[in-house]
Amino acid sequence: MRLTERAHAIVATRLRAGDWAIDATAGNGYDTCFLAEAVGPTGRVFAFDVQPTAIAATAQRLGALVERVTLIAAGHEAMARHVPTEAAGRIGAVLFNLGYLPGGDKDLITTAETTCRALDAASRLLAPAGIMSILVYRGHSGGSAEAHAVEQWLAARDVMWSRETFEPRAARDATPVLYVLRRPA
Ligand code: SAH
Repeated sequence: MRLTERAHAIVATRLRAGDWAIDATAGNGYDTCFLAEAVGPTGRVFAFDVQPTAIAATAQRLGALVERVTLIAAGHEAMARHVPTEAAGRIGAVLFNLGYLPGGDKDLITTAETTCRALDAASRLLAPAGIMSILVYRGHSGGSAEAHAVEQWLAARDVMWSRETFEPRAARDATPVLYVLRRPA
């Protein structure tokens, strides 16, 4: 199973109709579509991306599902400012799919500093037993620095939060790794 599919499978066990969810990196919109379907017509998804082309691609992929989605052309590090105040503590899942936009500008990547600020913000918005899925790409330039920062961020939460790690067996420093974090119930 690909790591993106694994993330969806795990998040699907938590999300219910009417839930709210966040896609922190909309990219080409695959995760946003998955979340929009998972929360159903009464749910809400907030999807962030700094690139207008990614927001446009996501809107196009969503089609009619766009009614359930708030598309936000802003950095995910500012997510707390862009979601309604009642989102605090009621977000069922937050998805991070880091790195660069496939088919887009490979120099425009998520960065260690903004990613960690976004992880902080996301962790405060999560509902009890809410899930945070973080897919980190270590192969591109800048990727290993970001991966290291994410590992440190995770290590600081080890006492309270449960975590699962999925990674291909070989070549540990160049391949993607998926972390699934659960907020205590
Ligand atoms: N590498 C993944 C896709 C990642 S897409 C894959 O192969 O499937 C990552 C997205 O994050 C890009 O569309 C990029 O524009 C976006 N991004 C970069 N910095 C961001 C930020 N600070 N806030 C929100 N989105 C950001």
